[in-house]
Amino acid sequence: MCAAFPEFRLGTVLATSFTGTLSERHGDAVERVPTPGRLVDWLVVSGLAVDSCTEAQLGLARELRESIHAVATAAAAREALPASAVQVVNDRSTQGRAAAVLTPEGQRLWRLGSATRRKDTLGVEDALAVIAADAIGIVAGERDGRLALCASPTCRAAFFDTSRSRTRKWCDMNTCGNRQKKARFHANKGRAAGPVE
Ligand SMILES: [Zn+2]
Repeated sequence: MCAAFPEFRLGTVLATSFTGTLSERHGDAVERVPTPGRLVDWLVVSGLAVDSCTEAQLGLARELRESIHAVATAAAAREALPASAVQVVNDRSTQGRAAAVLTPEGQRLWRLGSATRRKDTLGVEDALAVIAADAIGIVAGERDGRLALCASPTCRAAFFDTSRSRTRKWCDMNTCGNRQKKARFHANKGRAAGPVE
């Protein structure tokens, strides 16, 4: 891994950790998977290890990411789901081969069906299918939680709130939550609103 790339923000929900690889969509956007190699890194730490990734596959991944973001945003706002984005999610979900396997310790692992694919396309489509299916499960309300939008006006990321009270405000406490808290602290001090990082 290269220190020059922005760090990942890994949550416990696969689909929204994935959409979180682009943050500050309404501000100075931070692209956390700027290269195919960086997408491979993200897939590895997310339990979906692949051998390699092409530029075209990175393009597919970003298209899926923005489609999940659009669908999740509409779902969180209780609006009609955008048809084109739903189509992308469904295409990715149906065009991958991945199987869930159970370990002796009772954990689920994903086995990507790479054996049948060409060497240069090992697994990325399969990994994207797992992510797309995860997004479908969340939007369809199959999991215990609530889709919500980050309260930060420069972020507005869709996240999955699994807190007991379902009152989480920010996609990530360490970034958006902290920034908001600091801004409030400075406002309370009566200082001019300077750049807060
Ligand atoms: Zn946020």
